[in-house]
Amino acid sequence: MKEKITIPYIVGDGTGEDIWNASHEIFEEAVQKATKGEKGIEWVELHAGQKALDVTGELLPEKTIKTIEEYKVAIKGPLTTPVGGGFRSINVYLRQIFDLYVCMRPVRYFNGLPSPMKTPEKVNFIVFRENTEDLYRGIEWKEGTPEAQSLIQFLKDTMKTDLPESTGLGIKPISRAGTVRFARWVIDYAIKNKRRSVTVVHKGNIMKYTEGAFKEYAYEVAKGFPEEITFDADKGKIVFNDRIADNMFMQIILRPDEYDILLCPNLNGDYLSDACAALIGGLGVAPGANIGDRIAVFEPTHGSAPKYAGKDVINPTSFILSGAMLFHHIGLPGVSALIEKAVEKTIGDGIVTYDLARQLANVTPVKCSEFGKQVVKVL
Ligand code: NAP
Repeated sequence: MKEKITIPYIVGDGTGEDIWNASHEIFEEAVQKATKGEKGIEWVELHAGQKALDVTGELLPEKTIKTIEEYKVAIKGPLTTPVGGGFRSINVYLRQIFDLYVCMRPVRYFNGLPSPMKTPEKVNFIVFRENTEDLYRGIEWKEGTPEAQSLIQFLKDTMKTDLPESTGLGIKPISRAGTVRFARWVIDYAIKNKRRSVTVVHKGNIMKYTEGAFKEYAYEVAKGFPEEITFDADKGKIVFNDRIADNMFMQIILRPDEYDILLCPNLNGDYLSDACAALIGGLGVAPGANIGDRIAVFEPTHGSAPKYAGKDVINPTSFILSGAMLFHHIGLPGVSALIEKAVEKTIGDGIVTYDLARQLANVTPVKCSEFGKQVVKVL
């Protein structure tokens, strides 16, 4: 009898269906191969977002929450969030309700990927993004509402700060507690995985009591590891430093080899991970994980790319590599390594979807599903 590995999954909106269809066989085949047939996957489909609304009448059904709580892991495709109005992001809500405070996004060049850089092999970062605070908390009020008017009045009367009546307002909460637990998790990861450096990415020169405080709290945590961390350049220790966010965007392009782990508040991490993905071919190859103390949800960095939905052209690599991260997380590093190797071999052989093909010379793109089939063949 095969031992079952139960994995809840959410297909997602837009191109989610294309990506899922191209990927699940890869996961099944890799588990079969790496465990010599001793284990097999039992998939449990869950709904969230627009598809959940269509199927169940709710954006995030109770069953989805309960099942993820039961199995402690899930893999999800992208979910669409309307801009400017409509419902709030279900992606962000999932991170908040499961308290998935660490977002991990590895950005590593491998052979066959296109890159705008002269020496792309120097790109090997992990962007860690705080996942529950900052402007992403979604505390904001539309211009002209009673709430916005009341806050504008309070700021005027009590804080002696005058704002035009037509102002929309948002709050940027960054707490000591939220930053400390996040920084501790990342530093612990850096130590366990023998990484070279940790760089705090902040805009503390301008936002002194939020991003500036984020930097200070992170340094306080780092000072608690004198055996492992250096603030100068002690040999054999992890270098801990910081960069102002706008400078960091330049640094990753001009001097990527000087950076290793990037420790970011929520919004900086969001921007920076897409920019880093561009160095290795784009969002089609950028995986991610949202990790808490109890639960972890794995998902690609990209969104639902609705204009490509149902066209079978999108790159499933980001989702496939997110799956590899899931298997590593649940104690199956052999499955994870097999998936990564098969993806690298496929891309290295020039079998790529449109997004990579258009950055390479003389390459004809394959469909999303064909890419998936080829990875299964390599496995
Ligand atoms: P997006 O869906 O990430 O797409 C932006 C562009 O990135 C695409 O037009 C495409 O570029 C490229 N891209 C994205 N995924 C790709 C893939 N798998 N393979 C190849 N190229 C890929 O971002 P968006 O258009 O800003 O957002 C669309 C929706 O997704 C929004 O509702 C947003 O809120 C949501 N979103 C969800 C998540 C999530 O679920 N975690 C994350 C981000 C955004 P080209 O057009 O140049 O080919």
